[in-house]
Amino acid sequence: MDTLALRAPEITRRDFLKIASAALALLGLSQALTPRVAKALEESLGKTAVVWLEGQDCAGCSESFLNSLEPPAASILLDTISLRYHETVMAASGEQAEEARAKAMEEGGYVLVIEGAIPMAEDGRFCTIGGKTFRDIVRETASRAAAIIPVGACATYGGIPRSGPTDAVGLLFRGTQRHHYFDDVIAGKPVINLPTCPVHPERLVGVIVHYLTFGTVPPLDRFHRPLAFYGHNQHENCERRGHFDAGRFLTDWGDPRQQEWCLYLKGCRGPVAYQDCWKRKWNNRVNYCIQANTPCVGCSEPEFYESFSPIYERQFDVELPGVGRVDIDKVMATVGGAVAASIGADLLISRAKGKKNGDGQSQVKAEKES
Ligand code: SF4
Repeated sequence: MDTLALRAPEITRRDFLKIASAALALLGLSQALTPRVAKALEESLGKTAVVWLEGQDCAGCSESFLNSLEPPAASILLDTISLRYHETVMAASGEQAEEARAKAMEEGGYVLVIEGAIPMAEDGRFCTIGGKTFRDIVRETASRAAAIIPVGACATYGGIPRSGPTDAVGLLFRGTQRHHYFDDVIAGKPVINLPTCPVHPERLVGVIVHYLTFGTVPPLDRFHRPLAFYGHNQHENCERRGHFDAGRFLTDWGDPRQQEWCLYLKGCRGPVAYQDCWKRKWNNRVNYCIQANTPCVGCSEPEFYESFSPIYERQFDVELPGVGRVDIDKVMATVGGAVAASIGADLLISRAKGKKNGDGQSQVKAEKES
């Protein structure tokens, strides 16, 4: 059934190899697997169906995915697999569109991508499509799926809508809390959460290709995020970490000297954010938030947005992995206030914690290793 408005150019054997190679790099797997992945992709050509639902969302994840050039996400969706239902890109509307979803459900065994939060308040009536609540659409569509991939902060943990009146939740989580509204229809099915606002196209391509090739999902953390993409801390890998350690915090956006300094005082949530934006980057690998002089808002985390807002104001405390909670005001007060560029933040932190850093080594590092 050709219900879609977009068609990508015909995909060639060379394209399959290119996509396979890129996907393996995304997943951190050996390039020796390229022929196997390319074969799996070729064999699934047009066979693996995908149903993409949108609920309480801004369609930003769809935009992000379809704008990706490398790997060519549109080719993955439109040529390699069979996209059966997607409100934003399908040509069909009304009953014809709903028929496409019903037919896919009859056949079953598809990959279900969910974009947008699921409003639960007022029996789900804050979001209805074709006369049905999104909550019920998720229930019935999930019940026939083979695997489910909630994408973006909203579908995974509730995202920005969670801070509103609709009791918006992700498929498995309301923020950090695991709820059980859909457990009966998703029992036994893999659920792979791909948060951030929006979803990163490469992470979705990587998970789909992994599933098509191996029939399994990559290892996940306790919030159902693939460790390959969400297993690293932003702060530990940040190119501005040297400025943090040296106590150089940006306080004035207009000061040219401060342009590359640490953004912690401008609300950066890097110390509590787990993702690989620092190496994967965005916009076809041009840059990412911190590189573009914007604090990390922590959109990879279940606490985003409600518990992190207002997002451009600094946290009172900083939580450092392996160190614990550090009150930055006390840290500053300990050395007489102001930004002490000549005194490393590691030393400031150790002073605030009443510890000595006599050997000149990083106290943060020393505590992490102990
Ligand atoms: Fe980078 Fe933010 Fe950590 Fe500063 S606080 S080093 S900008 S992650």
